[in-house]
Amino acid sequence: MEQDPKELSTIEVKRGLEILKNIGIVDIVLSGGDPLLRDDAKEIIDYSTDRFITTVYDNGSMAVKKIEALRNVDFVAISIDSLNEAKNDYIKDVPGAWKRAIDTVEVLKKEKINVCVTPTISQLNLYEIADITKYFTEKGVPVWYCLYSYDQNNDANQLFRIGKPNDKLVIKDKKGMVKLCDSLINMRKKNNKILITDKLLKALRSLFSEEKRVWNCQALKNFLVVDHLGRIGGCHNQNFVGTVFDLPKMWNSKKFSSLRETYNSCSQCSYLCYIAYSLHGSPYGNLLIVKDHWKNANMFLSYT
Ligand code: SF4
Repeated sequence: MEQDPKELSTIEVKRGLEILKNIGIVDIVLSGGDPLLRDDAKEIIDYSTDRFITTVYDNGSMAVKKIEALRNVDFVAISIDSLNEAKNDYIKDVPGAWKRAIDTVEVLKKEKINVCVTPTISQLNLYEIADITKYFTEKGVPVWYCLYSYDQNNDANQLFRIGKPNDKLVIKDKKGMVKLCDSLINMRKKNNKILITDKLLKALRSLFSEEKRVWNCQALKNFLVVDHLGRIGGCHNQNFVGTVFDLPKMWNSKKFSSLRETYNSCSQCSYLCYIAYSLHGSPYGNLLIVKDHWKNANMFLSYT
């Protein structure tokens, strides 16, 4: 894959991370594309891990090749959508994806790297999510989730686009989703490797049982997105509103206050990570997320 020549340099990425730290960010998710494709992946990931709770997303194609870059990271998230090889590769639309991902989880675990599995919940694996969760957590591998979604709007200026429309993946069995939320709430009582919180599961339950959003979006307040060029947005769906280097002067500006108000009443998407950060952006919420991970908890506390 060609690297964009305008992509931020190593020095610029580090400068951006320092700025994020100074405005109080505690948690960084590096995703792509694939962040491990960069030649300086280890340098950037180590720099981030020293300063933030850091998660790296990989589809199983690069993590083993770049294993040294992942030695100190808090989580490496590997996406696996089914325990059935053919079904997983069909959902991913990538032949060989399942085998690569399963092998990656095994290697990272053996190397004592903090790997977790992140199935994307869709109509095609809805009834399998509890089994996937049980299978990996019994092996000592934590599980976090994504929720199938795709960008609904068609704004050419949005920061970037993720997800492709696929009618087969849209969750139509809403009662089935409610049942899954209840099962996971129940499983969590005895399983601390299920990383999603009860609060988030209850919010999802309300969304699917009553179409009620019990949260207000906290984009540009509890979370923000930075792209490979350093442009920032409240989320990837919104237009970019400056660059990471503008943050020190813009973070407390009137413009950002007004954007926060706009995003606060937005209900355009239901990406699970954005819901999680909207619900759990408070210090107490972060503490709930990291309470089982003392390395992270100590780091978190050092920032509050
Ligand atoms: S609800 Fe929030 S995260 Fe989703 S599109 Fe609107 S502003 Fe972005």
